[in-house]
Amino acid sequence: MSKKTNEGITVKKNEDFSEWYSQVVQKAELADIRYGVQGFIVHSPWGFKILRRIYELLEQDVEADDHEPFLFPLVIKKENLDKEEEHAGFAPEVFWVTKSGSKKMEEEVALRPTGETQIYPMYSLWIRSYNDLPYKGYQSRICTYRSEKTTRPFLRGREFMFFETHDVFATHDDALEQVEKDLTTSDEVIWKQCKIPFLSFKRPQWDKFMGALNTFTPDTLMPDGKRNQMASTHDLGQNFAKAFDINFQDKDGKQKLPWQTCYGPGIWRIMAALIGIHGDDTGLILPFDLAPKKVVIVPIFKEGSKDSVIKYCEDLKKSLDFSCIVDSTDATPGFKYNKWEMKGVPIRIEVGPKEVSEKTATVVLRTDKTKTSVKIEDINSEIKKQSLTLDKEIEKRAKVYFKDNTHDAKDLNELKKIMKSHRGFVRVPFCSVEKDGEKCADKLKELTDGVNVCGTLYPKEEKASGNCIMCDKKAKHIVYTAKSY
Ligand SMILES: [Zn+2]
Repeated sequence: MSKKTNEGITVKKNEDFSEWYSQVVQKAELADIRYGVQGFIVHSPWGFKILRRIYELLEQDVEADDHEPFLFPLVIKKENLDKEEEHAGFAPEVFWVTKSGSKKMEEEVALRPTGETQIYPMYSLWIRSYNDLPYKGYQSRICTYRSEKTTRPFLRGREFMFFETHDVFATHDDALEQVEKDLTTSDEVIWKQCKIPFLSFKRPQWDKFMGALNTFTPDTLMPDGKRNQMASTHDLGQNFAKAFDINFQDKDGKQKLPWQTCYGPGIWRIMAALIGIHGDDTGLILPFDLAPKKVVIVPIFKEGSKDSVIKYCEDLKKSLDFSCIVDSTDATPGFKYNKWEMKGVPIRIEVGPKEVSEKTATVVLRTDKTKTSVKIEDINSEIKKQSLTLDKEIEKRAKVYFKDNTHDAKDLNELKKIMKSHRGFVRVPFCSVEKDGEKCADKLKELTDGVNVCGTLYPKEEKASGNCIMCDKKAKHIVYTAKSY
């Protein structure tokens, strides 16, 4: 990257979040946006390793839930793309491969905008009898392509990283049970591992996935108060089974349509939340498990002490149980502190001639920068201890942040006031989350410059009271509203 990489961030996170975010993405070397094709970015090593860890956590979790991995091609047959009528709504966003060399292709193929239309034609060949069910497959470390107008690293891209499970069941009850399991995966990976707080919603009918019966999402809030949908689970009902001719012979000998679900954690969106929610004015802050390097050792030497200090640091590195880097470049210690704080390395160890002679190390934690002098023989247990302190602190900050960003409004004026000063989630009484509520949702959006109805809490919906903030009819639901990406 440019020489500017290691300069600090020039704006405060709470004063100009958008600029802060762009600078962290570049200066922490998460992505390089200079590739030259709009909406396509290069995932730089530091960022890519964090993304890879998120993938690993998801892979472990869904495999523990009996999913088998597979890998489908990048391209999809044209005729499959619009087989499911509602799902065909993706059409305006699809990229097409139309030429092979200089010749026009006999049959154009699409770059996958999502996985259903490529995977389900194969399921119709693979699934024959009740013995094949449940069928649980997933693909990981793949990309998806959509022709988005505005793009932003890790929030919206024309090419973005994807992970998807596609499950088939004999009954709707089995499918709904899977929806619960998918929510548990989100809880395990997004909250417990990545420390990103969220609310789980059932989306209103007008905002569900195209072709699904229902859509469920864990949504978090970015520091600018906008909703970030980090994953979605869809109860597909039998719509896709019908469209793609997936059926099975049941125990009673009859041919039946199965029930399907799919789950798509947005790898990018989780990354955006990690950056945005945990980071501070000096850069990225990462939960211990997600950091590509857990420890950076910074040698501090004067003329004459360089060799002994560096040797001590290299020996120290060998004795550590954690992934570690010794920064023995010629830059100043201050420059190195800034560089590794920007990248979110959880623990810094400072070693100077004093530490060498006393056989100690000075340990500094990324979150509050407290310094602790540690005897060299205790260094591994101290890092372990500090890693737990770091994770607890990240979790605590995230919880406080999230709690402060959810408000109640009884009517439209109150909602508007909150959106002006705080943004975030606003709970409001609403008439309906079925099709007939869409008119009120559209009007809300229009009158508030883009506030969306996120949905009702799921699985435990709150009890409704009061009147719809738009039409004043008796409210059937408490819905959460927010501006969104
Ligand atoms: Zn209404």
